[in-house]
Amino acid sequence: MKITNVRAHVLRSQLPQPFAFSQGWVSSRGATLVEVETDEGITGWGEALCQGLQPPEIARSAIEHALKHLVIGQDPLQPEVLWHRMYHHTRDYGQKGAVIGAISGIDIALWDITGKARREPIAKLLGGMFRTRVQAYATGFYRVKGEGEARRLAQEAEGHMAKGFRALKIKLGFGVADDVAVMKEIWGVAKNQEVMIDTNHAYGVAEAIRLGRALEDMGWRLRWYEEPVVQEDLDGYSEVRRALATPIAGGENEYTLFGFKEVFSRRALDVAQPDICIAGGFTGCRHIVALAHAHGVQVNPHVWASAVGQAASLQLIAAIPIANHALFANDILLEFDTSSHPFREHLTDAPLRQREGWVDIPQKPGLGIEVDRKIIEKYTT
Ligand code: CA
Repeated sequence: MKITNVRAHVLRSQLPQPFAFSQGWVSSRGATLVEVETDEGITGWGEALCQGLQPPEIARSAIEHALKHLVIGQDPLQPEVLWHRMYHHTRDYGQKGAVIGAISGIDIALWDITGKARREPIAKLLGGMFRTRVQAYATGFYRVKGEGEARRLAQEAEGHMAKGFRALKIKLGFGVADDVAVMKEIWGVAKNQEVMIDTNHAYGVAEAIRLGRALEDMGWRLRWYEEPVVQEDLDGYSEVRRALATPIAGGENEYTLFGFKEVFSRRALDVAQPDICIAGGFTGCRHIVALAHAHGVQVNPHVWASAVGQAASLQLIAAIPIANHALFANDILLEFDTSSHPFREHLTDAPLRQREGWVDIPQKPGLGIEVDRKIIEKYTT
């Protein structure tokens, strides 16, 4: 089998209601979808993640100008070999960010092709399924005003719980006093749920520790505290980690085994959160999972992509072992983005669905999805 073409589709849609996370206002959702065609009629799909403020055109440009010619004419059933080919050719200007996102999108599509050719879900090609379903947590709690929204956010928590979610991740990072007010209000409705917080690296070390201690003093036993400080400050991560009893999570802005090697060797994290659509695809995340395991760190992926990236994340999650085995170990949770994403729901024939807070992992070949080209055309920019 040979690769005959690689296409990058840029999709974008304005949001009816812009929302804020600690780093800025989001007014549109974008996606860079990757389509890889072969001479045997099998097509694979992948996605390069657009982080909150990232334009989808950057990854498309990397695919079209730097990567496409490296894989056309090659055998798609050798994704590991092609991953190294793409990484080596872009090393001197790549290594992180949208270039690795672009490699991730192509890698996911190659694994989709391989799964379809072998008639197996990708997780089985990675070594098998440790789980066939995963508990979802609701990611949401974005701001529509910015500050002073504690009551509305507590009501949002009640709404997610009414839909079946038993795990919630609260967006903080809007000032320690405002964050504490939010968590006091949410204590009243969700103190018995599995709760995480995420400040999207809004603070320096001192404020990050002040927030963590305030929540510990309030009685919160958080599952994790995500991105307390900027990703470049690994010593800062270690200081926050030593100062608190709460497990520290991060890694959605880190890339490949080379980036995570530094994170793990500096003892920066309890929970590593690579995103398959930007950290290196299945191949890159397989490396990261092994490295994390060697350092006793649990991988619990970040998931914020469209339906293609969500399907890839489910296959990855199925194949991740528990780092610290025990009969009643905490299992991996699926990040379930509840924010507005106009084209996600209709992009594939298998949009993400939760029942009583649980999501089944698809058992069909490859990613287990069919992509609707009409939706791609509708939202192509
Ligand atoms: Ca996050």
